Amino acid sequence: MSGQAKGHCLCGAVCFEFEHDAGQAFHCHCESCRRAASSVVTTWITVPRGKVCFTNGEPKYFSSSPGVRRGFCGTCGSPLSYESPVHPDDVDLYAASLEPDVIVEPEFHVYSDEQLPWFEVHDELPRYGGSITSGKPPVRKGVRNS
Ligand SMILES: [Zn+2]
Ligand SMILES: [Zn+2]
Repeated sequence: MSGQAKGHCLCGAVCFEFEHDAGQAFHCHCESCRRAASSVVTTWITVPRGKVCFTNGEPKYFSSSPGVRRGFCGTCGSPLSYESPVHPDDVDLYAASLEPDVIVEPEFHVYSDEQLPWFEVHDELPRYGGSITSGKPPVRKGVRNS
């Protein structure tokens, strides 16, 4: 899908868009994302910083660990973005904040080692135990063995 992908926070005070072709989507099971979003899994879409445009408002920021900042709406509190010095040229946006007609195709899972025991995602995608930047191969594809 090409064209502009649009998204917004719950109240609409912060709206953003980016070139849809520019993004890469994945699921994260880490505890930090889980708590930041209060969600069992967080689906991110990574977009080059220069391709993201805030068309209404601006996020406020919280530093969840040194050098990392997580953007959120200062009015309604919706989480909006993640930025890390590990990949300074990118911004991660929450796929769930996009308009429903934006088709998101996650390519892998990260931090499967921190996945909640009572929650599963039934796909056959590669699962990395930690970060994909660790250089380690996926721990498996698909769901956990019972
Ligand atoms: Zn808002
Ligand atoms: Zn995470």
